[in-house]
Amino acid sequence: MAEPSLLCVNCARPPPPHRRTWGRCVRCAELNLPSTYYCGDECAQAHWPKHKVWHKEQKEREKELREGTVAEHDRSAAEAQAREAERTGSELDKRCAAAVALIAEDDHHAADKALRKIIKEWPEEPSPYHNLALVMLRSGRNMEAAPMFLKAMELYEDGTKQWADSTGAAFDLLRHDECDGVPKPEWWNDEALKALSARVVAVAPDAGTPCTMRAYVLASEVIFKHNWNAAPRTAMEIKEAVMWFRRAAKVQHTPAAKLSNETLASQCDAVADSLLAKEEAECGQGPRCRRGRGREDPRCGQGGGGGGPKGGRGQGDSGSQGASRRGGEGEEAGGQQNGQ
Ligand SMILES: [Zn+2]
Ligand SMILES: [Zn+2]
Repeated sequence: MAEPSLLCVNCARPPPPHRRTWGRCVRCAELNLPSTYYCGDECAQAHWPKHKVWHKEQKEREKELREGTVAEHDRSAAEAQAREAERTGSELDKRCAAAVALIAEDDHHAADKALRKIIKEWPEEPSPYHNLALVMLRSGRNMEAAPMFLKAMELYEDGTKQWADSTGAAFDLLRHDECDGVPKPEWWNDEALKALSARVVAVAPDAGTPCTMRAYVLASEVIFKHNWNAAPRTAMEIKEAVMWFRRAAKVQHTPAAKLSNETLASQCDAVADSLLAKEEAECGQGPRCRRGRGREDPRCGQGGGGGGPKGGRGQGDSGSQGASRRGGEGEEAGGQQNGQ
């Protein structure tokens, strides 16, 4: 991705070299939503019925965000970024602080513009991509958000908390059918996803999307139609997914996301329990089987929780697609959990 471009909101095609401009939808302008772009008159007209529905969905999204602690997390991210800018005095930090402040004020239109300008001038800086992705995500523009989270992940130092947040957020979008048109990264296969999700939660065990990424990868076909070739999971793996969904529920910023994660945890738990009962019956050795042969036979689950989180709490409860500060760790803004 050279520079993130606005895709046609009707057909998701990138703009031609000589882009035409269109008048903004009055409602979008009123609500400070990012600019919409159409590739031509046909799409502009065809899109209106869909756009009305989209506005309705957008209202729901915003309501969900208001019910949680997203706003206060956004404000504290903006304050932290402003302090950072004051400390360093750098132009980049000042511009990033202004953009994060716009997100905190819910001015997605201005934030969108400011972030695109920063990216133009500092294309190697990861946080503007992450924050622009967040703006698009909150405006229901997932196709555009996904490659930006991927770009941020690529630019952040591998193994940092910000890297983990961007990775989890990218995964959360790419697993949906609606992002089928987004080119998948090289790690979009079962083996790599298992390894990557383990690294992500090792770095950020208290962040929303890293936790749900690990949980979804481990649960795979148990709860959703995965779009990579996932091998069948053992009861032990599904039990670990339960643990990560519960952990995610604790750190989510909206009640809707909390509830969704708790429900998924219960569903996985029931599946894992029945799988364990079946395995025990098949082994014919009763409860001894679990302790005795567990190590050699991965199908004889040892009852969950393996590979738990490293490091304690209190590293900042950022995570689910919160605005990212440039520089320092923690104190990031809240975000929304993408709908399940
Ligand atoms: Zn179009
Ligand atoms: Zn509109």
